[in-house]
Amino acid sequence: MALMRSMLLAASQNVWLRQHAVNFPFVRRSVSRFMPGETLDAALVAAQGLLHKQIGSVFTHLGENVSDREEARKVTNHYLEVLDRIHQMNLPTEISVKLTQLGLDLAPDFCFENLERIIQRESPKAIVWVDMEASNYVDATLEIYKRALKRYPNVGICLQAYLYRTKKDLADLLAFRPSIRLVKGAYNEPPSIAYPKKPDVDENYVALAKEMLRAKSAGQCVRAAFGTHDISLIRRLTDYVAQERLPKTDLEVQMLYGIQRAEQERLARDGCRSIVLVAYGTYWYPWFVRRLAERPANLWFMLRNVFAS
Ligand SMILES: Cc1cc2nc3c(=O)[nH]c(=O)nc-3n(C[C@H](O)[C@H](O)[C@H](O)COP(=O)(O)OP(=O)(O)OC[C@H]3O[C@@H](n4cnc5c(N)ncnc54)[C@H](O)[C@@H]3O)c2cc1C
Repeated sequence: MALMRSMLLAASQNVWLRQHAVNFPFVRRSVSRFMPGETLDAALVAAQGLLHKQIGSVFTHLGENVSDREEARKVTNHYLEVLDRIHQMNLPTEISVKLTQLGLDLAPDFCFENLERIIQRESPKAIVWVDMEASNYVDATLEIYKRALKRYPNVGICLQAYLYRTKKDLADLLAFRPSIRLVKGAYNEPPSIAYPKKPDVDENYVALAKEMLRAKSAGQCVRAAFGTHDISLIRRLTDYVAQERLPKTDLEVQMLYGIQRAEQERLARDGCRSIVLVAYGTYWYPWFVRRLAERPANLWFMLRNVFAS
């Protein structure tokens, strides 16, 4: 299983595959399970459908590692348009951005300016989420995040439970009253910096999650969100919330579109905060292959599509 995950994560960065695999109809059919479509309009329709079920949404325009300033400005302008459309339609949808898409590889100041334009366009009541990418970006991402948070309280960051460093990063961030989305982590990281075994990642996740819920209850954290589809882990957090007599709405679970739909609806019905991350855009190959790596059974689903009409 670990070997399969490593192979898929290596494939997610393969340029040849990125250019060619996206043209195969069976690959396109498979990705549609995780994306309502490539366009913003498709994402907006999905958000309206989710809202009928009391499920919130977060949009992300797929892409990473842009290599020129014009492209990063285009992505920034796109997000400004997204926010305008969301506000016009009165949707409770937020957005989540990757800093390498806003020019982090080009210059941190330039990236910060792009992020700042986006935050300024967002309502102060909604969070602009910042994704966490591979480990070589963690320091730069946290630096830009703290810089933004000092000026704008409505910005959130993703932290990854597989990294040993995250316990300390979380403790440092709590001094700034952050919003945090905790995930397990989606990249191929060496055992020198990340827990190689799933049970260790899960235990670290629960310890960090409890710390976030305590901080939220003490007013040290604006939003404590849990980006996971792991039902046994969600049960442990639900039990903790009940045991500590925290309001059910303190439990905010964010999942990806198309995964564990029944659980997304159950959480919303139970009075927890249930949110779905809706990805769209044409640059879906690396993102899609990371989804395959999370659950190699998805590969069989893709292979079945080879034979589907
Ligand atoms: C809202 C959100 C935002 C994210 N943002 C980031 C980010 O910024 N940076 C980052 O590194 N990672 C991010 N991730 C990905 C995350 O790190 C994990 O790779 C991913 O969520 C899978 O881990 P899991 O917690 O669901 O647990 P796992 O232990 O991987 O899975 C638990 C169970 O969930 C189901 N499941 C999980 N993944 C899939 C899948 N792809 N298809 C079908 N079923 C599945 C399976 O039933 C599996 O047994 C994000 C995830 C979510 C939900």
